[in-house]
Amino acid sequence: MSSLVARSRDASRETRKLIERSRELIAVSRRLLNPAWRVSGASDAELSPAAAADPVALRLVIRRRLREDTLFPAPCRIWLGAGQGRFCVVCAQEISAREIENEMILGPVTMWAHLPCYTIWREESSRGQEKTLRRPQEA
Ligand SMILES: [Zn+2]
Repeated sequence: MSSLVARSRDASRETRKLIERSRELIAVSRRLLNPAWRVSGASDAELSPAAAADPVALRLVIRRRLREDTLFPAPCRIWLGAGQGRFCVVCAQEISAREIENEMILGPVTMWAHLPCYTIWREESSRGQEKTLRRPQEA
């Protein structure tokens, strides 16, 4: 009986992981299917290099984009490495060799983000999840 309970608990945990992964993929798909995200350049238009370097401005833009669904919640699983000249998915600025890049693989899509951008993005993504678990009027 107890092994049945343990197996059930494992299956439940595995299912929760799959649901979380599915949600990430749905969020990425939504972004990829939304041409306005790229064309209007939510990040390009609003985040000059100076603004991207300002953590307060960056946080406000990330918060708004998460709320408006033009940025998906930050994935939890990342790989760190030296920047290789790729563009940050959050601020759209280049990640230079002097900076650390966070690599994220979501299904067929690989993305990169600066370390500070990812950190704020992750914090704001968690904040959104906490908010939905708590009373909505707390916002
Ligand atoms: Zn960035």
